[in-house]
Amino acid sequence: MEDVRTLTIDRVHQGLRARQFSAGELAREALRIAEKENGKFSSYLHFCPERALEAASRVDAQIAKSEKLGELAGVPVAVKDVISTRSVRTTCGSRLLENYIPPYDATAVIRLESEGAVILGKTNCDEFAMGSSTENSAFCPVRNPVAPDRVPGGSSGGSAAAVAAGQAVVALGSDTGGSIRQPASFCGVVGVLPTYGRVSRYGLVAFASSLDHIGPLARTVKDAATVVGDRIRRGPDVFRRLGCEIREVSLPHTDYAIACYYIIATAEASSNLARYDGVRYTFRTRRDPTLLDMYRNTRGEGFGAEVKRRIILGTYVLSAGYYDAYYLKAQKVRALVARDFTEAFRSVDAILTPVSPFPAFKLGEKMSDPLEMYLSDIYTITGSLAGICGISVPCGRTSAGLPIGMQILAKHFDEHRMLRLAHAFETAGGFEV
Ligand code: GLN
Repeated sequence: MEDVRTLTIDRVHQGLRARQFSAGELAREALRIAEKENGKFSSYLHFCPERALEAASRVDAQIAKSEKLGELAGVPVAVKDVISTRSVRTTCGSRLLENYIPPYDATAVIRLESEGAVILGKTNCDEFAMGSSTENSAFCPVRNPVAPDRVPGGSSGGSAAAVAAGQAVVALGSDTGGSIRQPASFCGVVGVLPTYGRVSRYGLVAFASSLDHIGPLARTVKDAATVVGDRIRRGPDVFRRLGCEIREVSLPHTDYAIACYYIIATAEASSNLARYDGVRYTFRTRRDPTLLDMYRNTRGEGFGAEVKRRIILGTYVLSAGYYDAYYLKAQKVRALVARDFTEAFRSVDAILTPVSPFPAFKLGEKMSDPLEMYLSDIYTITGSLAGICGISVPCGRTSAGLPIGMQILAKHFDEHRMLRLAHAFETAGGFEV
């Protein structure tokens, strides 16, 4: 069978229709490659071969009966391990959920499988999606397939690496402040942040509920568009060449966005993560003498350093006496950041920015300085705070050969225009940096 590492969704469809391979054969080969090569980058935390082969056999049965196939029929997919999969472990990259097996599927997973997707396994990520490098995974860091001594970005680093390395055709990630777009840019793939609320969050383990999104990573804009259900089957210099008018716009409150995000996201995280108390879910340290000891030991040993830092920060900004000065003020700043976009979109259809201030950095390079790590998200966080949609598209390489992503942001629910622009840019060949 042909090399599954370079397949696109269209090619899977063609191959299935022409009976060049069956969905079962494709699933077995995709699993074989992904499992064999997982040691290279640690993109996956675990695989679900039974589920994959069952999904593939449903597609083969449809083909045998000449039934209409779904948009993702037979397509090998990877799912970030913060997204619930029934009967398949969902760890969130945390010791605390190391053996947690959800009793239900996330809506996004149900929707993908109802279109015929074949889920191969669950991808590595920063613990509870908190991070920008995937080094906060409690299990192991992910390596960037383009430059294995560097990080793949985060927190959906496993999903980006799996797609970049050809260990899945497309993947689901989650994005709270940049976690789809930034790893996509670091690994040279496409990543979409859908408008807040477009994709159901049911079954996405909550980090910061007012900012959490599920979205796809793919090797082409068209594949990413297919996953979000945008069926347009049919970029600054490139966009100008394509007939677009380029104007500068100002987003004056961007300076405050990182501070605002790290107040709101940590506040929500401190509340969302209160449920991991040693009573529910899987992890409990030992028989503790008192209830308080049990909480303390379970959370003390179960959570990693970054998660603890955020719970402490979030609890602080919500506490009596500090709520108004931090949390309330951050909510007001969030409204101003959102207003900047409303103003800007009065005169332009889309906004182009970098995705990240720097390309993939070396493993370990920023781990000792959390604030430096937080700055990774300066270009992605404003869109997250505003709840608009965005995409990261590969737009060239640095002189050292590292991928660079360009971000296209568009109005709420304007994914169609955003994806058309991204596709036009990709088709025009991007530009070289
Ligand atoms: N890097 C950001 C953070 O650490 C964003 C994470 C995300 O989008 N899940 O919070």
